[in-house]
Amino acid sequence: MDQPAPTGWSVCPGCGLELPGTEAAGSVDPRRNASAACWQLYGEVTGYELQHVIRLGRYHQLTVDAYAAQHAGDAGPAIGLAFALIGLHLALEEGLSGSEVRDAHQALAGRFRDWPRFAAPSALPTMTVFDVASAGSPDEHAERVLYWARSEWERWQPAHDAVARLIAERPLREVRPGRTSARH
Ligand SMILES: [Zn+2]
Repeated sequence: MDQPAPTGWSVCPGCGLELPGTEAAGSVDPRRNASAACWQLYGEVTGYELQHVIRLGRYHQLTVDAYAAQHAGDAGPAIGLAFALIGLHLALEEGLSGSEVRDAHQALAGRFRDWPRFAAPSALPTMTVFDVASAGSPDEHAERVLYWARSEWERWQPAHDAVARLIAERPLREVRPGRTSARH
């Protein structure tokens, strides 16, 4: 990323991904903070997860949260990034499943209106949605989503304590595993 993208390529403002296809500056939706080409690739990745929903459905929430965390911008609502980071924390630190994370998001959205903003980390992404999109099989896709989400959560290391505090302040007893229902 030290060198400018080749002519005829676009650079994603969120993840830095360089992809073929120029675009007018106006085609970057500031709320999305992604190049049109990166957003399209994300659509293909989530479409693949729906096609292979039995194998990959459980990874879908991780994909959504990793992509949102990677494309955090100042223009979007604070809840978007807060939920992405909460989702990554619950999945990767606490072992919640995708549907448990979705339940947590829903419960939080219904109870709290105000969400803090988090400053973007200075470290650049080491993996992007491109790494997932270029997987050759559902198994490889699953493995790469996990690596991608972990690398993105690691990139947000400076915010880990604040995210943990936020979750502690807004407890989710009803959706935490192992208390009201057995896992799996
Ligand atoms: Zn991107």
